[in-house]
Amino acid sequence: AKQNGRNQYAFYFEELESDSKRLLLLESELRKAIQKKEFTIYYQPKVSIEKQEIIGVEALVRWQNEKLGFVSPGEFIPYAEDAGLIIPLSEVIIEKVCLDIIDWRNKGILNLLVSINIASLHFQQDDFIERINSILMQYNCSPRQLELEVTERTIMNDTEGIVEKLIKLKNMGFKLSIDDFGTGYSSLSYLNRFPLNYLKIDGSFIKQITSLKDKQAIVDCIILLAHRLHIKVVAEGVETKEQVKLLKEMDCDIIQGYYYSRPIPSKELLDFFELWEIH
Ligand code: C2E
Ligand code: CA
Ligand code: CA
Ligand code: CA
Repeated sequence: AKQNGRNQYAFYFEELESDSKRLLLLESELRKAIQKKEFTIYYQPKVSIEKQEIIGVEALVRWQNEKLGFVSPGEFIPYAEDAGLIIPLSEVIIEKVCLDIIDWRNKGILNLLVSINIASLHFQQDDFIERINSILMQYNCSPRQLELEVTERTIMNDTEGIVEKLIKLKNMGFKLSIDDFGTGYSSLSYLNRFPLNYLKIDGSFIKQITSLKDKQAIVDCIILLAHRLHIKVVAEGVETKEQVKLLKEMDCDIIQGYYYSRPIPSKELLDFFELWEIH
């Protein structure tokens, strides 16, 4: 019977098998990669619309593995969350960011604001603050140079103690932003409960603002409301001149996207800064 089943579903099994093989490989390779700290961090500049200044960069993890090739964070971050690996992985990422900050400091770049994406599960740990703080102290990096990007979902899912946690982080000097705004189900009226510096409008909205009037209206409203609450607005995934023009008209504060730069390695970022200043 077993043989029959195998024949009948051979194709299905083979597909399943290669999928589960990749998954097994992903799990074992990710574990090793965390131990070997086999990740690099790319950085994407954020530019203020009005003054055309680089106000900071977002750190985005990259993983190149011998057996799996390039694996995108969109794949391995959710996987790490499911596999119980997100905390050690996140701590390696924070360490790497600290090392880059030290390197920049040695090169005379002292106060670049770097934002780090914080996974839900990581943020929800009771000792999240103590542990991030101990890594920063180990590398002599100040929270003042860091911005934490927490998704809308993270903030809305877990309301217990979250406001206190955010206030504590803010008082320590971290900047706080709400990421992927517009994708969740949050009510805008909740926003004033959180001590946020920035709100990042999800790229899926930006993509459609020049073609769909209702998306444009939504973005317009989000910007108005955020400003009422003294929160600055970052548009992510900005790719075209038309989008920049429209966002400027809507009084958006900061632009991030391929229009200015893709995420780039630390070394290229320094070249980008130089060229930016010459311009
Ligand atoms: P995210 O935080 O929303 O990051 C923005 C994503 O949009 C990044 O993809 C970035 O490369 C991409 N992007 C930037 N500008 C443009 C643009 O103009 N057009 C388009 N089409 N895309 C643009 P990436 O680097 O592949 O990261 C995907 C997601 O993986 C991130 O979404 C974030 O949720 C997660 N992630 C990435 N790095 C980290 C990390 O270090 N820690 C954690 N916890 N999550 C991370
Ligand atoms: Ca982000
Ligand atoms: Ca985002
Ligand atoms: Ca996103």
